[in-house]
Amino acid sequence: MAKLTVRDLNVRGKRVFVRVDFNVPMEDQDGQMVINDATRIRETLPTIELLVEKGARVILAAHLGRPKGKREPSMSLRPAAAKLADLICRPVAFVDDCIGEKVEKTAGLLQPGDLLLLENLRYYNEEEANDPGFAAALAKLGDVYVNDAFGAAHRAHASTEGMARVIAARGDPCAAGLLMERELKFLGEELENPARPFVVILGGAKVSDKINVIDRLLEKADAILIGGAMAYTFKLAQGLKVGRSLVEADKIDVARAAMEKAKTRGARFLLPVDDVVANPVDTGKVNKKGKPVIEMQNPRVHSGGNLPDESGGVDIGLETVKRYGEVIRSAKTILWNGPMGIFEDPRFADGTFAVARLVVEASHKNGAKSIIGGGDSVKALHNAGLGDQVTFMSTGGGASLEFLEGKELPGVAVLSDKQSERG
Ligand code: AMP
Repeated sequence: MAKLTVRDLNVRGKRVFVRVDFNVPMEDQDGQMVINDATRIRETLPTIELLVEKGARVILAAHLGRPKGKREPSMSLRPAAAKLADLICRPVAFVDDCIGEKVEKTAGLLQPGDLLLLENLRYYNEEEANDPGFAAALAKLGDVYVNDAFGAAHRAHASTEGMARVIAARGDPCAAGLLMERELKFLGEELENPARPFVVILGGAKVSDKINVIDRLLEKADAILIGGAMAYTFKLAQGLKVGRSLVEADKIDVARAAMEKAKTRGARFLLPVDDVVANPVDTGKVNKKGKPVIEMQNPRVHSGGNLPDESGGVDIGLETVKRYGEVIRSAKTILWNGPMGIFEDPRFADGTFAVARLVVEASHKNGAKSIIGGGDSVKALHNAGLGDQVTFMSTGGGASLEFLEGKELPGVAVLSDKQSERG
């Protein structure tokens, strides 16, 4: 059932509590916290602007970092209020708490179109604990609840779930913001009945992180292309030698079952036919976190089955890019999650960037819908300068994976269904 969205609401003069994702990277510059990247704030502008236009009294709430229940000054959201004011060209009031009398009074004084940002929700442990008293205190602040923080929707916290339940129980509406609406549309509805061929590209570190996604998508996909370290767990399951590649030896059965399922369903399941390999060498040094620094030496392309004992796979090779390219070019729907190699190292980024270019090309030339499932693939597209050339990039990491697995996210489940609109 489609969820109520902020478009459906009549909010003139009402206090609208909006859960946003303002968990932005900040750094200390001469004793002042400065926002490094305001993308997340920018992405919520359409929802906030729509609410302002509709004459709502807007109360924004978010978490920043992990202050673990303490008032950690470096994790105050105050700089986010200033940044939002800059971006939206309107004053944004800030209150240094998120519940209680002072907050209620400040929220009560808002006029239609006014904006107020509350202090970091995680200054209270009760937020993550989904404490009923805390949820009720938050719920007191709004006549209507809107959630635009998809990236936090897989967590049942007080601001993402508990307070919405209180508001819904009062008979008031709980709606998705525009950003959340797009996530539900592209990761949900669009993949329900995808235009075919539907090609899924999965990479990244671990099979275990994505096996449920693979399992679910095998029901629908025409082809699954595997890259990244996870390819080596599948190769291991095929009885191949994978040298010193990152693998999950305890996931071989799971990998084998997925390949069997693909066969039964008639879905193509492609693994790399050549790899960029390198030799991991312990430098004897440790990094800032006290972990040993491993250098990848002697990078080269390796074709054929077994990898040399002393080498690990770090990227897909050119021949693999060519084969994957043929499949991607024919696609009408593409879902991509996870890099094809250790793309943070420019020596091993070619495969990931090549896939990024192929996905963009298929979107332009073949009219394919290209949906990027968040996390590192989004980073890779940005690094390749192709960020705006796909159909949709998810803002959620863990949340997108759980949603793609078919799990009901607590922060989505709690939103009102369209038919129960009250506005
Ligand atoms: P994930 O969060 O599961 O999408 O994994 C992303 C991480 O996987 C990135 O940090 C990559 O460096 C890493 N990764 C991708 N391919 C490999 C590989 N062949 N060996 C080791 N790490 C890899």
